[in-house]
Amino acid sequence: MKRLTQRYIGSKNPWCYYSKENNPCGCGSNCYHLEYDRSDDKIYCVCNGCKSDIYEIKEEYTKENLDKGIWLLEEDLKNHSEEQYHQIIIDEYLESLQN
Ligand SMILES: [Zn+2]
Repeated sequence: MKRLTQRYIGSKNPWCYYSKENNPCGCGSNCYHLEYDRSDDKIYCVCNGCKSDIYEIKEEYTKENLDKGIWLLEEDLKNHSEEQYHQIIIDEYLESLQN
């Protein structure tokens, strides 16, 4: 299953969210990021500590979340140099503006 991870524009880091309480997975972390699964068109909140799914984003919020930041596959990061990576970001960003 290949998922796209939401990242800050211009950065390789996942976009991090913090909960007031620790995540329900119980690993002690209170931060998570969003991953989009194209096969079921759903966004999942994934714990940064143990990488388990902790919530599903309601369908009606999928689009507005996909509009924030840049969504990339993990392999996009591994397979590209820093310079190429920034070009991908720029391309995807421009593409997102056109939609
Ligand atoms: Zn966890």
